[in-house]
Amino acid sequence: MRLLIQNGTIVSDGVSCRADLLAENGLIRAVAPHIEARAERRIDASGCLLLPGFIDTHTHLDLPLGSITTADDFDSGTHAAILGGTTTVLDFATQDRGMTMQQALDLWHRKAVGSHCNYGFHMAVSEWDEARAAEVDSMVRQGVTSFKMYMVYDAMMLDDGAICDALTRMAARGCLAGVHCENAFLIRERIRKLRAAGRLDAAAHPLSRPNAIEAEAVARLMRIAQLAQSPVWVVHLSTAEGLDEVRRARERGQRVLVETCPQYLVLDESCYAAPDAAKYILSPPLRKHADQEALLSAMGAGEIDMIGTDHCSFTMAQKAAGADDFTKVPNGGAGIQNRAELLYTCAVLPGRVTVCQMADLLSSNAAKAFGMYPKKGALRVGSDADIAVFDPSRARTISWRTNAHRCDNSPYEGMHVAGSVRDVVLGGEPVVEDGRLVRRGRGRFVFRRPCFTPIA
Ligand code: MN
Ligand code: MN
Repeated sequence: MRLLIQNGTIVSDGVSCRADLLAENGLIRAVAPHIEARAERRIDASGCLLLPGFIDTHTHLDLPLGSITTADDFDSGTHAAILGGTTTVLDFATQDRGMTMQQALDLWHRKAVGSHCNYGFHMAVSEWDEARAAEVDSMVRQGVTSFKMYMVYDAMMLDDGAICDALTRMAARGCLAGVHCENAFLIRERIRKLRAAGRLDAAAHPLSRPNAIEAEAVARLMRIAQLAQSPVWVVHLSTAEGLDEVRRARERGQRVLVETCPQYLVLDESCYAAPDAAKYILSPPLRKHADQEALLSAMGAGEIDMIGTDHCSFTMAQKAAGADDFTKVPNGGAGIQNRAELLYTCAVLPGRVTVCQMADLLSSNAAKAFGMYPKKGALRVGSDADIAVFDPSRARTISWRTNAHRCDNSPYEGMHVAGSVRDVVLGGEPVVEDGRLVRRGRGRFVFRRPCFTPIA
């Protein structure tokens, strides 16, 4: 099938220019100022930006948490993702203790069948020993070349020694690992004191995890990665102080990839005073205006690589489990559909980042970091025809009622965005037209190469 997209502005590889694009059999065949060709399908992209299909580096779909499971599975989650221009989600397949990585991978493959956008997996590991280490090669052979580790959460956390050994052995196979950076022991102590003071309301959540809790963990991770002689990916960075620790490591010559999330750019801790504050209980917590500013400036300076959503949705009924005790609220929020429109509105329109940086932050840098470039993350001849058609004048108001996720709340409820995704092409086929999913279940597993060439 041939698809011709005319009159758009193509944003890819650091360049933004008016051009037509021809796709055939799932691949981009031509990009040129004017293309005349017969095509079964056509899109008039006048006034729109054509960006490489967005890659969400951080999602939790169909994730069990104790006795409950996230509100969104791969059906509702990837429906919402693709409406927002995300053509690939990298979800965390999670190896719970007592499971093998292979069991987790097989389980996540089953969960993802029928997805509406492409999907790949990072393998989140909850234990590290010789048996798990021996599975890394097998994951690479199956196209899973990135991993995730936690410094917090009793059921998932690894100690510093395990993280160091894992980083070294993953890096030897060209695998990038992300780490959730917070200090579990300091959080535990602060919660103990808050509890003793009768502070178990939602507004105590950010008090239990102040900036230094993240910054200490980032600083420690930087030194662990230095010892491991390994690159590392800081997931969901939320603080100015954490960013400073990354800068120090980079000044030492370390390779550090940084991801932040829209919630840390557009929301702040004043949300915890709201009557529905439970929906903002996520970790790390929402921060202060100074942190938003630091992150926005860092994005403009090219110090932040990726924006993932950390979509981990729970219904208000599930959140109500912690009505009298914030420590019992399942952590996470819904954001999978709104990443591009929020970034455009809060960063591109005010001139904090360019449209080229928007393409890098939402797609290209993730494709490069995770072994997909230039098949993904670029609009050039030979790349996969995964394309987001973004209309800068398509304003809308975000609401969970009109978002496609199944979760009955949004941290961005009522927020106005200036532009949004109109159409989406997945594998050369238009799957979203005028904001509606018109071709379902076209997502495929993305088999990824190693993320980098290991240093011998
Ligand atoms: Mn996390
Ligand atoms: Mn997460």
